[in-house]
Amino acid sequence: MRLILLGPPGAGKGTQAKRVADGLSIPAISTGDIFRWNVSEGTPLGTKAKGYMDAGEYVPDHVTNAMVKDRLAQDDAAPGFLLDGYPRTQEQVGALDAMLSEQGTTLDKVVELTADRDELVDRMLKRAALEGRSDDNPEVIARRLDVYDEQTAPLVAIYGERGLLVSVDGLGKVDEVTERLMAAIRG
Ligand code: AMP
Repeated sequence: MRLILLGPPGAGKGTQAKRVADGLSIPAISTGDIFRWNVSEGTPLGTKAKGYMDAGEYVPDHVTNAMVKDRLAQDDAAPGFLLDGYPRTQEQVGALDAMLSEQGTTLDKVVELTADRDELVDRMLKRAALEGRSDDNPEVIARRLDVYDEQTAPLVAIYGERGLLVSVDGLGKVDEVTERLMAAIRG
């Protein structure tokens, strides 16, 4: 299974990606988590990414694409993977297409997790209190949602036209949403 989990910040992608990937015995690959790890370790990649992340902006495509290419080349991703938070721009869609065609593989499905903006802001503010993420403050949250609308929301139509898209309501109990996602992926 080669899957993408698409959705705005705060929709619960990270939590659900891990649960769904565990259920399917494939790795969940979160570009946000990889960037955060690099920031916390102070690697050159982390140094490059930090300013963008703290401002709620996307890390430049060439940096993100190179990182994903390396990650997808690792052995555990050979049988399949669930991408969480990638691709996020049209340029990244093209880069992923090229990586997959080089491997001779294709995507099976793109699952969109939906939630309305008020709910998203609410969830991110709660997460800020729990996890202390440096990009979970009101101004940066608003910017991240705007960047999503401008740059990532158009990907829904792109994958819709390819016949790969399924949309799942992200509102509700964590277990219920996981069940909906599993059903959408199986279906
Ligand atoms: P996330 O945890 O997925 O919300 O990602 C946190 C931050 O990491 C984002 O706000 C971006 O700054 C950066 N990031 C994660 N994934 C990408 C991506 N595919 N393209 C560019 N920047 C990304």
